[in-house]
Amino acid sequence: MIKSRAIVLHRYAYSDSSWIVKALTEDAGIVSFIVKGGKRKESPFKGALDPLALSEVVFRENPNADLQYIKEATLIDWRKNLREDLLSLAKAQVMAEMVLRYAPQGVPLQAEFQLLKRATDELELSSENKERSAVFARWLLDTCDAWGFQLDLSTCNRCGRPLDAPAKDFHPETGALVCAGCLGISTPRSREETMAGLWNLLQGKEIEHPQYVENAILTYLRQHIGFQKEIKSLQFLNETRKLFGC
Ligand SMILES: [Zn+2]
Repeated sequence: MIKSRAIVLHRYAYSDSSWIVKALTEDAGIVSFIVKGGKRKESPFKGALDPLALSEVVFRENPNADLQYIKEATLIDWRKNLREDLLSLAKAQVMAEMVLRYAPQGVPLQAEFQLLKRATDELELSSENKERSAVFARWLLDTCDAWGFQLDLSTCNRCGRPLDAPAKDFHPETGALVCAGCLGISTPRSREETMAGLWNLLQGKEIEHPQYVENAILTYLRQHIGFQKEIKSLQFLNETRKLFGC
């Protein structure tokens, strides 16, 4: 029997009364559960298997089956504040979907669990927008690292010198930063907001316009992991950003 903390990544109906739940467990990576009777009102799992919930699950792992039977699921944190903030919700959904689509299946994913738990903890617990501003960008940067595509934000890619001010350009295809001296009189391709955001991210500071740095790192990461797999929740994030003018 396995007992593990888990973050629910995705859930869909399987029949009139059942669900399939895909969760990132702390100890066993991504596991797909069949939850018979899960949709019934008197289901013993209540909110514990809602998408993005942090729960403790108990199950017996059958290595020959794609779907595991869940024995117990106990809610640890439903993420109430996160759900009430549309932008946090949209970002958390993109993170969950990216883990589900891109992380390897059938292997332990402890780094992925810790990173997603930390990011969703921060979205849940910080009371102010600016405190949350770097959470998604930080998660993307750390995920680049965890998946073997480390992004060095501290050095100019051309001259190799450590940056002592925001770089002047960023190439999302390669992840290269270019310092003022190396850019010279050329026109940068990246926006100033992106460069300021990458610099603040390196310093561990808040980010004024997070969408630019988020999109820059997301483009870099997808350049490496592939654009073939669509990230459906990105559309919701982009619509939410428009709604809030960011
Ligand atoms: Zn340089």
